[in-house]
Amino acid sequence: MMAIVGTAAYPAAMDEDGFAPDAGVARYGYGEELHPEDLARPWAQPGAWKDNAWLRGVRDLLEWVAGDVTCGPLRGTPAARPTPWDVYADTSGIDEIMRQGSRCPVRPGWPPPQSGEAMNATVHWLDSKTDVLPVCEHALGAYQCGCQDLARMGTGS
Ligand SMILES: [Zn+2]
Repeated sequence: MMAIVGTAAYPAAMDEDGFAPDAGVARYGYGEELHPEDLARPWAQPGAWKDNAWLRGVRDLLEWVAGDVTCGPLRGTPAARPTPWDVYADTSGIDEIMRQGSRCPVRPGWPPPQSGEAMNATVHWLDSKTDVLPVCEHALGAYQCGCQDLARMGTGS
């Protein structure tokens, strides 16, 4: 598994980029077909895998927004009832998540890039920047849905 692990000192609650180590994959474990060896090559995976990662991203963000958890999914922003600004703060730098495996290395403990794409799409939906739901009526994400505009939102499709 190709991975770059930072060695610089940073607060115990964050890695050097400010992402909480208990976010995303680290928070929920791999499971659900997200095996570590596959996470190292996130764009070489089949649509079902990429969609699984996408759906996790939607879930991870919405369970925070809905009040089911009290910390943001990426930076661990503490908020029992997050405001839009809390959501922006927690997802700032999400481009780094999305670029993993294409324009930057895959980082252990970070959510898969497709999860980042999904969180980004979910934020845009919450903002009313788009009326395309991040999950379609068949409970599919951008990588498996062929029924609507959602299919255009994943970079791999
Ligand atoms: Zn669909």
